[in-house]
Amino acid sequence: MSEVFRFAPSPNGRLHLGHALSAFTGFDMARRVGGRFLVRIEDIDTTRSRGDLIAAIFEDLRWLGITWEVPVLRQSEHFDDYRAAATRLRDMGLLYPCFATRSQIEAALQPGHASDPDGAPLYPGLHRGLDARAVADRLQWGERYALRIDMARALAAARNMAGNAAFTFQALDAAGRQTAVVANPARWGDAVIVRKEVPASYHLACVVDDARQGITHVTRGRDLLAATDLHRLLQVLLGLPAPLYHHHRLLTDQQGRKLAKSADDTSLASLRAGGATPVDIRHLVGL
Ligand code: GLU
Repeated sequence: MSEVFRFAPSPNGRLHLGHALSAFTGFDMARRVGGRFLVRIEDIDTTRSRGDLIAAIFEDLRWLGITWEVPVLRQSEHFDDYRAAATRLRDMGLLYPCFATRSQIEAALQPGHASDPDGAPLYPGLHRGLDARAVADRLQWGERYALRIDMARALAAARNMAGNAAFTFQALDAAGRQTAVVANPARWGDAVIVRKEVPASYHLACVVDDARQGITHVTRGRDLLAATDLHRLLQVLLGLPAPLYHHHRLLTDQQGRKLAKSADDTSLASLRAGGATPVDIRHLVGL
């Protein structure tokens, strides 16, 4: 069975050098092992994603010399599948509606509260355990809500289903060595699994699609290492296979900050306009 790799950009800005490193990493690994390479457009954020940026992603990748299979999966066309996965978790009693606004959540935070790996405050439990009548009333009034995972219950369910394997994933380092990494999904607290505005979240859509597309190797930056803990938990709960993970080094600017999509000077388009070749880009990202 051939191995399947993917590059999964979100079309909310032009691709920059960090994306080039990510795309080359997956593409080169796939080539080395004679595997397949897919591009997936992660455009669930319909307010920020733009069609012209999707076209620009394809143009930049083509210019880099990267090839991929078609058709390309666009997440905005698969909300029903994410909804179905969420329903399954909800039926297992592992998701609950949270009606709270950002300011209500902030007001409920205790001094010295903990933060999740992205730096957002851990959810203080506001609407966990809201009584069924109150929930039904608010739903009936059409109040908007996110679905959050009840982390304590989810951890217990996952342990029941997969034992300690629920809390490990297999990682490949840059030299191709495989090691087991301990996952600690608890550090995300009661994370949002279905957002208020769209019937999905990055985490849910990502695990559903990695499984749907038969991805065997997830290659992405180290900035998503902590997200893998939550992805592993969702895979166990949804009965999805576990891919191998390779989290590559991150590129930083001269000040040591992670490259951002807004950093126009490192966009592939502006480098190309300035005369850079795809070989130059490989050198610039240290390949
Ligand atoms: N769409 C994500 C991003 O652009 C990457 C997700 C992934 O590779 O899992 O950062």
